Amino acid sequence: MKKIEVLGVTFDAGTKQAVLAQLAGRLAARQGTFVVTANPEIVMKARRDSDFAALVKQADLVTADGIGVVQGAAMLGRPLPERVTGYDLLVDLLGLANEKHLRVFLIGAKSEVIAQTAAKVQATYPQLVLAGARDGYFDLTDTSVIDAVASARPDMVFAALGAPKQEQFLTQLRAQLPHALLMGVGGSFDVLAGVAKRAPGWMQHAHLEWLYRLIKQPSRLGRMMVLPQFVFAVRKQRRAERQAHK
Ligand code: UDP
Repeated sequence: MKKIEVLGVTFDAGTKQAVLAQLAGRLAARQGTFVVTANPEIVMKARRDSDFAALVKQADLVTADGIGVVQGAAMLGRPLPERVTGYDLLVDLLGLANEKHLRVFLIGAKSEVIAQTAAKVQATYPQLVLAGARDGYFDLTDTSVIDAVASARPDMVFAALGAPKQEQFLTQLRAQLPHALLMGVGGSFDVLAGVAKRAPGWMQHAHLEWLYRLIKQPSRLGRMMVLPQFVFAVRKQRRAERQAHK
């Protein structure tokens, strides 16, 4: 798959279908895969924090989670075909796990949310094996959590711990689960459990999902201030690249 760089993060430029096909192939070959679905917030975090940037570099696949990244890539003249969100990949991968009777481990979110998520996943995808589910409120230095996930022998692990905790956790887990698909999915369990709702279709199409989330959760405003900073940084990179090509 073609690679595209946006502000120092290297994205895989594939449609959701292409990404899924690649993931299915790697799963069938028991080739371990660490997936990062990066939104502008993650890109900006990687720019500021070299430890986090090093984690993102270890990913086998980086997809554009959010229209901001797709627009940023277009501004730089390196278009990405579409956004490939963590939530959408999660849903499709659960479908694949169902079809192939794979073992899935879900880790993250608050305890009532993970309980609802686990129940919903079992009911919706009865053929997958739920190898385990636990909440995301544990300390990363507590290696018993890693050991518990690894000993459940999952084929897929979805970690909804927020960034950078989920990436830190999954890179630690990787050493013990070299053949599994590992993916951070942010707030996706809250959506799956029905605690948080995704924006209505028309708002997603109008690229207003960020506004919907802000209205529902005004405390996100501080975090959202990275969006204008992201656009500013992309413009700066575009200017620098144009200068370099003169
Ligand atoms: N979370 C967790 N453990 C923590 C901190 C957060 O499990 O130590 C969960 C939180 O409950 C939420 C998710 O991680 O379900 C992060 O959601 P957020 O909205 O930050 O994710 P985004 O989709 O914006 O990356």
